[in-house]
Amino acid sequence: MKANYHTHTSFCDGKNTPEEMVVAAIEKGFDTLGFTAHAMYPFEGEGYLPTARYDEYVQTIRSLARTYGDRIKILLGFEADYIPGCTTPDRARYAPFNPDYLIGSIHFVCAGSPEKRVAVDYSPERLTAGIREFFGGDAKAFLQTYFAALREMVSRYDFDIVGHADLPRKFNGKLHYFDEEAPWYRDEILRTADVLAASGKNVEINTGAISRGWMDTPYPSGEFRRLLLARGVQMVVNSDAHFVDGLDCGFDRRWEE
Ligand SMILES: [Zn+2]
Ligand SMILES: [Zn+2]
Repeated sequence: MKANYHTHTSFCDGKNTPEEMVVAAIEKGFDTLGFTAHAMYPFEGEGYLPTARYDEYVQTIRSLARTYGDRIKILLGFEADYIPGCTTPDRARYAPFNPDYLIGSIHFVCAGSPEKRVAVDYSPERLTAGIREFFGGDAKAFLQTYFAALREMVSRYDFDIVGHADLPRKFNGKLHYFDEEAPWYRDEILRTADVLAASGKNVEINTGAISRGWMDTPYPSGEFRRLLLARGVQMVVNSDAHFVDGLDCGFDRRWEE
């Protein structure tokens, strides 16, 4: 079965319409395609599904599911952000839209309050400036805050799939702002793997940074995946596609072993 449960469209920061993604997925032989608009409901965010368009998004995806239902299974989801004090990836919060599932993701690391937030994956420049401004240039403190928030999100909130668990690696190939072999970093992913396993949630293997040329490996890293596998964590390969060509990026390689 060929499935992708992490797809963005022009409703948020994707390049193609939902229908263009569906047609491309059918051409690429997918059996299942799940849509996951960036959501921080009930708040607004740049590149996110605007609050006023939630109903239109839901109706569009459900309508495509009916139109193309004989060729592909279409699912409605959200990539719901966790920003402490601002928005949470909680099923109750999204219940008015009756989604099939939720991905819980962290794209911002907060230094004490939502106003002091660093964009993890927007650009290397913004990441560097954010760590300098809100963490005094201390990358270790930034990363430890990220993983602490991830563990908190996973243990507190009711959602289905953990999105790109080690997203801060995205720009490390360019910036070299931390050492993935450092004992403190390995301790963070070890502790996080334990919490992920205890949660029973599914963890995605996300190839999105490969299609956009930032890395040649997915999230989580090979070491992180081995820790998860050893703990029996269920994993699913997702492309986090923002355009039609990214839909099956990295799907020809085996990552879940
Ligand atoms: Zn994401
Ligand atoms: Zn995404």
